[in-house]
Amino acid sequence: MTIAAHTLGCKLNYAETSDILRRFAAEGHTIVEWDSALAGNVTADLFLINTCTVTAVAEKKCRNAIRQAHRHNPEARIVVVGCAAESLKGIPGVTLVLGNDRKHLLPQLLKGDAPSLPSTPSNSPSLPFPLQYSSGDRTRVFFKIQDGCDYFCTYCAIPYARGRSHSATIEETLCMARHIADSGAKEVVLTGVNTGTFGQQHGESFLDLLRGLDAIDGILRYRISSIEPNLLTDNIIDFVAHSRAFLPHFHIPLQAGSDHVLSLMRRRYDTALYSAKLQKIKSAMPDGCIAADIMAGFNGESEEEFQKVLDYVDSLPISYLHVFTYSDRPGTAALRLGEKIPVSVRREHTARLLDLSERKHHAFIGSQLGKSRPVLWESTNHNGRMEGWTDNYIRVGRPYDAALINTVESVVLTPDNIVRVSL
Ligand code: SF4
Repeated sequence: MTIAAHTLGCKLNYAETSDILRRFAAEGHTIVEWDSALAGNVTADLFLINTCTVTAVAEKKCRNAIRQAHRHNPEARIVVVGCAAESLKGIPGVTLVLGNDRKHLLPQLLKGDAPSLPSTPSNSPSLPFPLQYSSGDRTRVFFKIQDGCDYFCTYCAIPYARGRSHSATIEETLCMARHIADSGAKEVVLTGVNTGTFGQQHGESFLDLLRGLDAIDGILRYRISSIEPNLLTDNIIDFVAHSRAFLPHFHIPLQAGSDHVLSLMRRRYDTALYSAKLQKIKSAMPDGCIAADIMAGFNGESEEEFQKVLDYVDSLPISYLHVFTYSDRPGTAALRLGEKIPVSVRREHTARLLDLSERKHHAFIGSQLGKSRPVLWESTNHNGRMEGWTDNYIRVGRPYDAALINTVESVVLTPDNIVRVSL
């Protein structure tokens, strides 16, 4: 078969798709580019779409991807997997739908030799955990170490789509990390839905996993893709600050900047705790990069509340924001909560948060000019230049030199070598 894949959503989905495609390729199938298949430059026998349900916009993009694939090759099989799969079942052209509990079994299912599994509505801690990782240019790997979530924030459909928090044991996870190290990857991004809950079903801790990973030879750098503020303990911050390979780059969801809205969202922290975590990071790692997710237009977020958000975020040592616009998700508690914010206001708040993010990012980059930071060089040739990330997540470029690919070099940051990218 020739297979084209399209992935929507988070890094977890990218790791999962990459893993599925690697297993298809190992069985002799040919992987082709999605865009080439849609442009008619190559023919795909199978279109794989790994879906996202986090917002209504994400789900709409999934529908569009299915329709595009079907329009370009009505004969091809279309397999829809992941978080939004169930709600996309009836769309013309879709031949197979697999939820999160089964999508990693796709290559076996198509051969007809998948192991029998108990019927579960979604991922379950009782099933074996599929440790999956992405592979691209081999410099940087997204490693899925955890899945699912028990938090049930009122706006979020993910716990329904991905089930309860679950993971493999530390020993199993370290075994896969050694395998990734043997593949030549130098940087590993630890991904999960609620990463900090790793190990809870086995009575193990996330911090002990980090300690084990830090001792693995060959991997030079780790990033924690995201961690809830209430799970980011001072011990984890201290560990990262003094570790061999964990980088000073944190992604800590904030979601709202007022305690009233945080409680409506049923988040497990308040602004005082959030501020304390950021101060702790900055005192341990002054040049550390801190990213925050924030949601615009959640129910009950009045203009006055929104101004508090802007002031609060502005006061924090945040390097940039990931801004999401609230949308109703079926089955979530937020549908019955608070006063709805008009869509036009949600959009306006989103734009103002994006502006704030731009200013924060500019200031963060400015604070790093003239400093020397280690950069891992990647393989892509951008018109005679190569690029890489600093440890504290600034994009840097230099003239292309193949000998530098997958090596770490100290670079003094200047306005000329910084590459502006949207994050
Ligand atoms: S912590 Fe909240 S927002 Fe994150 S996946 Fe769990 S329920 Fe969703």
